[in-house]
Amino acid sequence: MAPRAKRDNQTEDRALIGWDGIRFTVPGDWNVTGVSADRANGYLKVDSPQTMFLQVKWADPSAARPRTLAGMVTQMLRAVRKQPEPASDSPDLRPTLEAYLKETERRARKQRQQFDCKIRPQTSEAGGERVAVHFTWTGGGVGQGKIWRCTTCRRTVIAQVVGQGKDPVADVAASVFSDMRDHPEGGWTVWGLFDLVMAVPQSFVLRSHKFLSGYIRLEFGDRREGRILAERWGLASIARKKFTIREWLGQMGEAQKHGSEYADVTANGHPAVRATGRVSGLLATLGAVRDSLPSVRPATEYEACAWECDETNKLYVLQTWRPRGASSLMGDLVARCECH
Ligand SMILES: [Zn+2]
Ligand SMILES: [Zn+2]
Repeated sequence: MAPRAKRDNQTEDRALIGWDGIRFTVPGDWNVTGVSADRANGYLKVDSPQTMFLQVKWADPSAARPRTLAGMVTQMLRAVRKQPEPASDSPDLRPTLEAYLKETERRARKQRQQFDCKIRPQTSEAGGERVAVHFTWTGGGVGQGKIWRCTTCRRTVIAQVVGQGKDPVADVAASVFSDMRDHPEGGWTVWGLFDLVMAVPQSFVLRSHKFLSGYIRLEFGDRREGRILAERWGLASIARKKFTIREWLGQMGEAQKHGSEYADVTANGHPAVRATGRVSGLLATLGAVRDSLPSVRPATEYEACAWECDETNKLYVLQTWRPRGASSLMGDLVARCECH
Protein backbone atom coordinates (compact mmCIF):
# COMPACT_ATOMS: atom_id res chain seq x y z
CA MET A 1 0.00 0.00 0.00
CA ALA A 2 1.13 3.54 -0.69
CA PRO A 3 1.96 5.98 2.10
CA ARG A 4 -0.54 8.42 3.45
CA ALA A 5 0.75 11.85 2.61
CA LYS A 6 0.69 14.04 5.66
CA ARG A 7 -1.64 16.81 4.61
CA ASP A 8 -3.91 18.39 7.16
CA ASN A 9 -5.96 20.28 4.64
CA GLN A 10 -6.98 17.23 2.64
CA THR A 11 -9.36 14.57 3.78
CA GLU A 12 -8.65 12.31 0.81
CA ASP A 13 -5.89 9.76 1.28
CA ARG A 14 -3.03 10.76 -1.08
CA ALA A 15 0.26 9.03 -1.81
CA LEU A 16 3.42 11.01 -2.45
CA ILE A 17 5.44 10.04 -5.51
CA GLY A 18 8.93 11.49 -5.91
CA TRP A 19 11.52 10.63 -8.51
CA ASP A 20 14.60 12.68 -9.40
CA GLY A 21 12.97 16.03 -8.62
CA ILE A 22 9.55 15.22 -10.09
CA ARG A 23 7.07 15.19 -7.23
CA PHE A 24 3.29 14.93 -6.96
CA THR A 25 0.51 13.18 -5.07
CA VAL A 26 -1.92 10.59 -6.37
CA PRO A 27 -4.93 8.86 -4.79
CA GLY A 28 -3.67 6.63 -1.96
CA ASP A 29 -4.41 3.33 -3.72
CA TRP A 30 -2.40 4.18 -6.88
CA ASN A 31 1.05 2.67 -7.30
CA VAL A 32 4.14 3.19 -9.43
CA THR A 33 4.37 0.51 -12.14
CA GLY A 34 7.13 1.91 -14.31
CA VAL A 35 10.23 4.08 -13.82
CA SER A 36 13.23 5.05 -15.86
CA ALA A 37 16.57 5.70 -14.19
CA ASP A 38 17.80 7.65 -17.23
CA ARG A 39 18.47 11.15 -15.88
CA ALA A 40 18.21 12.84 -19.27
CA ASN A 41 14.90 11.21 -20.20
CA GLY A 42 12.80 10.39 -17.19
CA TYR A 43 9.63 8.34 -17.14
CA LEU A 44 7.08 7.39 -14.50
CA LYS A 45 3.86 5.44 -14.78
CA VAL A 46 1.44 5.25 -11.88
CA ASP A 47 -1.56 2.92 -12.07
CA SER A 48 -4.90 3.07 -10.29
CA PRO A 49 -6.39 -0.25 -9.15
CA GLN A 50 -8.93 0.11 -11.97
CA THR A 51 -8.55 1.56 -15.45
CA MET A 52 -6.99 4.97 -14.85
CA PHE A 53 -3.29 5.72 -14.94
CA LEU A 54 -0.87 8.64 -14.92
CA GLN A 55 2.09 8.99 -17.23
CA VAL A 56 4.89 11.51 -16.74
CA LYS A 57 7.80 11.98 -19.14
CA TRP A 58 10.51 14.57 -18.85
CA ALA A 59 13.61 15.65 -20.70
CA ASP A 60 16.46 17.21 -18.79
CA PRO A 61 18.95 18.93 -21.12
CA SER A 62 21.54 19.39 -18.34
CA ALA A 63 21.69 15.61 -17.71
CA ALA A 64 21.91 14.64 -21.38
CA ARG A 65 25.15 13.07 -22.51
CA PRO A 66 26.72 15.03 -25.33
CA ARG A 67 27.15 13.02 -28.54
CA THR A 68 30.25 14.76 -29.88
CA LEU A 69 33.62 15.72 -28.49
CA ALA A 70 32.84 19.42 -28.98
CA GLY A 71 29.54 18.95 -27.16
CA MET A 72 31.35 17.21 -24.33
CA VAL A 73 33.87 20.04 -23.97
CA THR A 74 31.09 22.65 -24.01
CA GLN A 75 29.19 20.76 -21.31
CA MET A 76 32.31 20.42 -19.15
CA LEU A 77 33.11 24.12 -19.46
CA ARG A 78 29.55 24.96 -18.54
CA ALA A 79 29.75 22.73 -15.49
CA VAL A 80 33.04 24.32 -14.41
CA ARG A 81 31.65 27.84 -14.84
CA LYS A 82 28.32 26.73 -13.37
CA GLN A 83 26.52 28.09 -16.40
CA PRO A 84 23.05 26.82 -17.24
CA GLU A 85 22.26 25.20 -20.56
CA PRO A 86 21.24 27.77 -23.12
CA ALA A 87 17.55 27.72 -23.93
CA SER A 88 15.15 30.06 -25.57
CA ASP A 89 12.90 31.92 -23.17
CA SER A 90 9.73 31.19 -25.08
CA PRO A 91 10.05 27.64 -26.39
CA ASP A 92 7.47 26.29 -28.79
CA LEU A 93 6.10 23.23 -27.03
CA ARG A 94 3.60 22.30 -29.71
CA PRO A 95 5.90 20.20 -31.94
CA THR A 96 6.93 18.03 -28.96
CA LEU A 97 3.32 17.68 -27.86
CA GLU A 98 2.11 16.85 -31.36
CA ALA A 99 4.73 14.12 -31.71
CA TYR A 100 3.63 12.70 -28.36
CA LEU A 101 -0.05 12.76 -29.27
CA LYS A 102 0.69 11.12 -32.64
CA GLU A 103 1.70 8.01 -30.69
CA THR A 104 -1.60 8.04 -28.80
CA GLU A 105 -3.49 8.56 -32.03
CA ARG A 106 -1.72 5.61 -33.63
CA ARG A 107 -2.83 3.38 -30.75
CA ALA A 108 -6.43 4.62 -31.02
CA ARG A 109 -6.48 3.92 -34.76
CA LYS A 110 -5.16 0.42 -34.20
CA GLN A 111 -8.22 -0.18 -32.04
CA ARG A 112 -10.33 1.34 -34.84
CA GLN A 113 -11.32 4.26 -32.63
CA GLN A 114 -11.79 7.80 -33.80
CA PHE A 115 -9.17 10.08 -32.27
CA ASP A 116 -9.88 13.71 -31.38
CA CYS A 117 -7.62 16.05 -29.47
CA LYS A 118 -7.89 19.60 -28.27
CA ILE A 119 -4.74 21.62 -27.70
CA ARG A 120 -5.16 24.88 -25.80
CA PRO A 121 -3.06 27.98 -26.46
CA GLN A 122 0.30 28.25 -24.70
CA THR A 123 0.08 29.95 -21.30
CA SER A 124 2.37 31.12 -18.53
CA GLU A 125 1.95 29.38 -15.16
CA ALA A 126 3.39 29.09 -11.66
CA GLY A 127 4.10 32.79 -11.39
CA GLY A 128 5.85 32.83 -14.74
CA GLU A 129 8.15 29.91 -13.95
CA ARG A 130 6.46 27.62 -16.47
CA VAL A 131 5.29 27.89 -20.04
CA ALA A 132 2.50 25.34 -20.49
CA VAL A 133 0.10 23.89 -23.02
CA HIS A 134 -2.93 21.92 -21.80
CA PHE A 135 -4.51 19.19 -23.88
CA THR A 136 -7.33 16.63 -23.85
CA TRP A 137 -8.04 13.74 -26.16
CA THR A 138 -10.60 11.00 -26.75
CA GLY A 139 -10.25 7.79 -28.75
CA GLY A 140 -9.47 4.40 -27.24
CA GLY A 141 -9.87 6.12 -23.87
CA VAL A 142 -9.79 9.65 -22.54
CA GLY A 143 -6.73 11.68 -21.69
CA GLN A 144 -6.12 14.99 -20.02
CA GLY A 145 -2.73 16.51 -19.50
CA LYS A 146 -0.23 19.20 -20.10
CA ILE A 147 3.23 19.84 -21.36
CA TRP A 148 5.39 22.51 -19.79
CA ARG A 149 8.87 23.84 -19.65
CA CYS A 150 10.32 25.07 -16.39
CA THR A 151 12.48 28.17 -16.64
CA THR A 152 14.28 27.30 -13.38
CA CYS A 153 15.50 23.77 -14.13
CA ARG A 154 14.88 23.87 -17.90
CA ARG A 155 13.17 20.53 -17.91
CA THR A 156 10.35 19.85 -20.32
CA VAL A 157 7.63 17.70 -18.76
CA ILE A 158 4.61 15.98 -20.30
CA ALA A 159 2.08 14.55 -17.87
CA GLN A 160 -1.31 13.08 -18.56
CA VAL A 161 -4.04 11.17 -16.77
CA VAL A 162 -5.66 8.50 -18.92
CA GLY A 163 -8.88 6.61 -18.28
CA GLN A 164 -11.93 5.09 -19.83
CA GLY A 165 -15.31 6.72 -20.51
CA LYS A 166 -16.71 6.82 -17.00
CA ASP A 167 -13.48 7.54 -15.12
CA PRO A 168 -13.17 10.94 -13.35
CA VAL A 169 -10.12 11.81 -15.46
CA ALA A 170 -10.62 15.58 -15.24
CA ASP A 171 -10.92 15.55 -11.42
CA VAL A 172 -7.88 13.33 -10.97
CA ALA A 173 -5.84 15.41 -13.43
CA ALA A 174 -6.79 18.61 -11.59
CA SER A 175 -5.68 17.22 -8.22
CA VAL A 176 -2.45 15.66 -9.55
CA PHE A 177 -1.40 18.79 -11.45
CA SER A 178 -2.31 21.15 -8.62
CA ASP A 179 0.82 20.28 -6.63
CA MET A 180 3.18 18.78 -9.20
CA ARG A 181 6.81 19.89 -8.89
CA ASP A 182 9.52 19.36 -11.48
CA HIS A 183 12.76 20.13 -9.62
CA PRO A 184 14.19 19.63 -6.13
CA GLU A 185 13.51 22.35 -3.59
CA GLY A 186 15.53 23.58 -0.62
CA GLY A 187 18.59 21.60 -1.76
CA TRP A 188 16.95 18.19 -1.20
CA THR A 189 15.49 15.72 -3.69
CA VAL A 190 12.49 13.77 -2.46
CA TRP A 191 12.31 10.12 -3.47
CA GLY A 192 8.96 8.49 -2.80
CA LEU A 193 7.37 5.32 -4.07
CA PHE A 194 5.99 2.02 -2.80
CA ASP A 195 5.32 3.59 0.61
CA LEU A 196 8.90 4.80 1.02
CA VAL A 197 9.35 8.56 1.32
CA MET A 198 12.84 9.93 1.83
CA ALA A 199 15.11 12.73 0.65
CA VAL A 200 18.78 13.09 -0.21
CA PRO A 201 20.85 16.23 -0.88
CA GLN A 202 20.23 17.47 -4.39
CA SER A 203 23.78 16.78 -5.58
CA PHE A 204 23.34 13.03 -5.01
CA VAL A 205 22.09 11.13 -8.04
CA LEU A 206 20.48 7.73 -8.17
CA ARG A 207 23.08 5.03 -8.89
CA SER A 208 20.91 1.93 -8.58
CA HIS A 209 17.49 0.83 -7.42
CA LYS A 210 15.80 -2.42 -6.53
CA PHE A 211 12.09 -2.90 -5.86
CA LEU A 212 11.09 -6.34 -4.67
CA SER A 213 8.01 -7.28 -2.75
CA GLY A 214 8.98 -6.54 0.85
CA TYR A 215 12.34 -4.97 0.01
CA ILE A 216 13.32 -1.60 -1.45
CA ARG A 217 16.85 -0.41 -2.04
CA LEU A 218 17.96 2.98 -3.38
CA GLU A 219 21.61 3.88 -3.79
CA PHE A 220 22.77 7.45 -4.40
CA GLY A 221 26.18 8.90 -5.13
CA ASP A 222 28.00 12.17 -5.41
CA ARG A 223 31.66 12.03 -6.43
CA ARG A 224 32.60 14.73 -3.91
CA GLU A 225 30.24 13.88 -1.06
CA GLY A 226 30.19 10.09 -1.13
CA ARG A 227 27.45 7.51 -1.12
CA ILE A 228 24.04 6.95 0.49
CA LEU A 229 22.34 3.57 0.66
CA ALA A 230 18.74 3.32 1.83
CA GLU A 231 17.04 -0.01 2.44
CA ARG A 232 13.59 -0.82 3.72
CA TRP A 233 12.20 -4.22 4.57
CA GLY A 234 8.48 -4.86 4.88
CA LEU A 235 7.00 -7.22 7.48
CA ALA A 236 9.91 -6.31 9.74
CA SER A 237 9.01 -8.69 12.55
CA ILE A 238 9.14 -11.66 10.15
CA ALA A 239 12.19 -10.47 8.20
CA ARG A 240 14.27 -9.76 11.29
CA LYS A 241 13.28 -12.93 13.15
CA LYS A 242 15.48 -13.36 16.19
CA PHE A 243 18.05 -10.75 15.22
CA THR A 244 18.29 -7.56 17.24
CA ILE A 245 18.37 -4.28 15.30
CA ARG A 246 22.07 -4.03 16.12
CA GLU A 247 22.79 -7.50 14.72
CA TRP A 248 20.74 -6.71 11.64
CA LEU A 249 22.68 -3.50 11.02
CA GLY A 250 25.97 -5.28 11.58
CA GLN A 251 25.24 -8.15 9.23
CA MET A 252 22.74 -6.97 6.63
CA GLY A 253 24.44 -3.58 6.54
CA GLU A 254 28.18 -2.99 6.42
CA ALA A 255 28.56 -1.85 10.03
CA GLN A 256 30.47 -4.95 11.08
CA LYS A 257 32.68 -4.89 8.00
CA HIS A 258 33.77 -1.33 8.77
CA GLY A 259 34.64 -2.08 12.42
CA SER A 260 31.83 0.13 13.70
CA GLU A 261 31.05 1.36 17.14
CA TYR A 262 27.39 1.19 18.05
CA ALA A 263 25.13 3.52 20.01
CA ASP A 264 21.49 3.32 21.01
CA VAL A 265 19.63 6.36 19.72
CA THR A 266 16.12 7.39 18.70
CA ALA A 267 14.97 7.68 15.09
CA ASN A 268 11.60 9.28 14.30
CA GLY A 269 10.41 8.31 17.76
CA HIS A 270 11.59 4.68 17.58
CA PRO A 271 14.46 3.00 19.43
CA ALA A 272 17.30 2.87 16.90
CA VAL A 273 20.93 1.86 16.54
CA ARG A 274 23.59 4.12 15.10
CA ALA A 275 26.93 2.81 13.86
CA THR A 276 30.09 4.70 12.98
CA GLY A 277 33.09 3.10 11.38
CA ARG A 278 35.73 3.49 8.71
CA VAL A 279 36.53 1.83 5.41
CA SER A 280 39.79 -0.02 5.98
CA GLY A 281 41.92 -2.54 4.15
CA LEU A 282 43.76 -1.93 0.91
CA LEU A 283 41.12 -3.19 -1.53
CA ALA A 284 38.23 -1.36 0.14
CA THR A 285 40.26 1.86 0.34
CA LEU A 286 41.28 1.59 -3.33
CA GLY A 287 37.61 1.06 -4.20
CA ALA A 288 36.67 4.23 -2.32
CA VAL A 289 39.40 6.17 -4.11
CA ARG A 290 38.20 4.85 -7.49
CA ASP A 291 34.58 5.83 -6.73
CA SER A 292 35.60 9.37 -5.85
CA LEU A 293 37.62 10.05 -9.01
CA PRO A 294 38.37 12.63 -10.23
CA SER A 295 37.93 14.45 -6.91
CA VAL A 296 40.33 12.14 -4.97
CA ARG A 297 38.35 12.51 -1.77
CA PRO A 298 37.59 8.88 -0.97
CA ALA A 299 34.44 8.34 1.05
CA THR A 300 35.95 6.34 3.90
CA GLU A 301 33.89 7.57 6.88
CA TYR A 302 31.01 5.20 7.49
CA GLU A 303 27.84 5.99 9.37
CA ALA A 304 24.59 4.06 9.58
CA CYS A 305 21.28 4.07 11.36
CA ALA A 306 18.71 1.28 11.66
CA TRP A 307 15.27 1.28 13.22
CA GLU A 308 12.03 -0.57 13.14
CA CYS A 309 8.77 1.32 12.74
CA ASP A 310 6.32 -0.66 14.85
CA GLU A 311 3.38 1.32 13.49
CA THR A 312 3.96 0.15 9.92
CA ASN A 313 6.04 -2.99 10.64
CA LYS A 314 8.88 -1.76 8.44
CA LEU A 315 12.60 -1.98 9.04
CA TYR A 316 14.86 0.84 7.82
CA VAL A 317 18.62 0.85 7.32
CA LEU A 318 20.34 4.02 6.13
CA GLN A 319 24.08 3.92 5.44
CA THR A 320 26.44 6.68 4.32
CA TRP A 321 30.06 6.80 3.26
CA ARG A 322 31.56 10.28 3.19
CA PRO A 323 35.04 11.78 2.76
CA ARG A 324 37.05 12.71 5.83
CA GLY A 325 36.09 16.14 7.12
CA ALA A 326 32.69 16.18 5.38
CA SER A 327 29.83 16.74 7.80
CA SER A 328 27.44 13.96 8.73
CA LEU A 329 24.18 13.68 6.80
CA MET A 330 22.65 11.00 8.98
CA GLY A 331 20.51 13.22 11.22
CA ASP A 332 18.90 14.92 8.23
CA LEU A 333 18.48 11.66 6.30
CA VAL A 334 16.69 9.99 9.21
CA ALA A 335 14.45 13.00 9.83
CA ARG A 336 13.48 13.10 6.15
CA CYS A 337 12.77 9.38 5.95
CA GLU A 338 9.05 9.24 6.78
CA CYS A 339 8.29 5.89 8.35
CA HIS A 340 4.79 6.49 9.76
ZN1 LIG B 1 11.85 23.06 -12.75
ZN1 LIG C 1 7.75 5.03 12.30
